[in-house]
Amino acid sequence: MSELFRRLVADADEESTFLIAGDRRITYREMEALTGQAAAALVALGVAPGDRVAVQIEKSVEGLFLYLAAIRAGAVYLPLNTAYTPAELDYFLDDAEPALFVCDPAKLDALSPVAEKAGVPRVETLDGNGEGSFSDAVAEMPVDGFRDIGVGGDDLAAILYTSGTTGRSKGAMITHENLASNAEALVELWQFGKDDVLLHTLPIFHVHGLFTATNTAMRAGAAMIFLPKFDVDAVLAALPQATVMMGVPTFYSRLLGSDAFDRDLVSGMRLFISGSAPLSPETHKYFFERTGQAILERYGMTETSMITSNPYDGARKPGTVGMPLPGVSVRIADPESGDVLPDGEVGVIEVSGPNVFKGYWKKPEKTAEEFRADGWFITGDLGYVDGDGYVCIAGRAKDLVISGGFNVYPAEIEAAIDALPGVKESAVIGVPHRDFGEGVTAVIAIKPGAHVSEEGIRSGLEGELASFKIPKRVVIVDELPRNIMGKVQKAALREAYRDLYG
Ligand code: ATP
Ligand code: MG
Repeated sequence: MSELFRRLVADADEESTFLIAGDRRITYREMEALTGQAAAALVALGVAPGDRVAVQIEKSVEGLFLYLAAIRAGAVYLPLNTAYTPAELDYFLDDAEPALFVCDPAKLDALSPVAEKAGVPRVETLDGNGEGSFSDAVAEMPVDGFRDIGVGGDDLAAILYTSGTTGRSKGAMITHENLASNAEALVELWQFGKDDVLLHTLPIFHVHGLFTATNTAMRAGAAMIFLPKFDVDAVLAALPQATVMMGVPTFYSRLLGSDAFDRDLVSGMRLFISGSAPLSPETHKYFFERTGQAILERYGMTETSMITSNPYDGARKPGTVGMPLPGVSVRIADPESGDVLPDGEVGVIEVSGPNVFKGYWKKPEKTAEEFRADGWFITGDLGYVDGDGYVCIAGRAKDLVISGGFNVYPAEIEAAIDALPGVKESAVIGVPHRDFGEGVTAVIAIKPGAHVSEEGIRSGLEGELASFKIPKRVVIVDELPRNIMGKVQKAALREAYRDLYG
């Protein structure tokens, strides 16, 4: 059997519900039969063990089954963001050299020439309702006839491209052991059980929705309510049937924007988890005031799956990402020398453990740069460990602002700005400045109806922050640019304001 699939279904009861999607209820037994059939179709389409199966598809039950089928067939699953344009797909297909590409039928005309140019031997289709030529191929396969292809823990299960927040996306080579070990650690840590019902509203082309959510629920033998996307009304309607929800911070701030979201509605929920981008302490606080529940924030990345998490029992501290997962080790190092720093000092976060990926696909130099000689992976995120042993993220190394020779960590300034009255959200960036090298610059969005001025923000920070940390300019915008995972696009902001200081 394939290592990951074997471990994911190890504890599941065949007749338990695996997925609820609209009117459909699919048991674990049905899931095994259907993913076996889909795996047989992959083999029939010429996919051999180790081959990449690239997909750019809308979220659907069949799309999720395609992931599991690829794993069972010993193939390497390679999901691509649905927002990528044909020009972007050109790079990914060329880079990944898949044996099969599955795309939305509506995009087939635009994408088949791209796939052909990249030398992809087969292209099939699958739409958001689970229909398309791939499903037709699956329907021709015998039910229950598939014997999993034996691949081990060290074999690749997926190549997942990073979000491209700091530059061009890199393909992270992720093994069966990486994913299985992370799912097992999360089941234990978050106390997942067979009675859980996970509300799944995340996209399934990214580590959060594909692995953290799906693999953890499966490993526990739990059920998932599978929604095609995050829609406030649909989430409000589903919450009373769920016990756990995973989301990006913007999901939680959007829920707080609805009066119907209250303590009664979530009385059956035991856990709200947030990640992929920083959750502001303000949102954490309002969420607690409204619902009586403390959001559990965790930290991870494509290359490592989950790294740290706030505790299930014990204080979930706003503005922190908690402690390393069981079996995972974290250290804070001097970015240049690599020397390990004492608690309290800011440095680069480094990780070691069974969750750490094998390297970047076809990028040996990049891989070598991001690992220390002793095998630890350099995340590129800056952080420190507080007095209680909780990891706090100070921002990405690439977003560090150096003003007048002083290091300014954006997360600290953003937290101070977010706490000022009338501020909805903020992003702090460094913009070229003649005298200071970089000028600390805040881009903020304000709450509807609030009256906030640049001077008001700056004076509100006086006394709170050392003067070199106070933004030289505060730009007020309607909304911060974010990608679908709720990540603020700081590179775009730096570009937009690069001439701010003349
Ligand atoms: P790229 O590597 O291509 O620039 P990316 O780093 O945004 O893109 P992902 O792997 O999707 O791609 O995101 C991982 C990053 O998300 C982490 O390195 C970290 O910066 C950020 N992140 C994840 N969880 C949290 C969190 N709870 N708080 C703050 N940042 C987080
Ligand atoms: Mg990254």
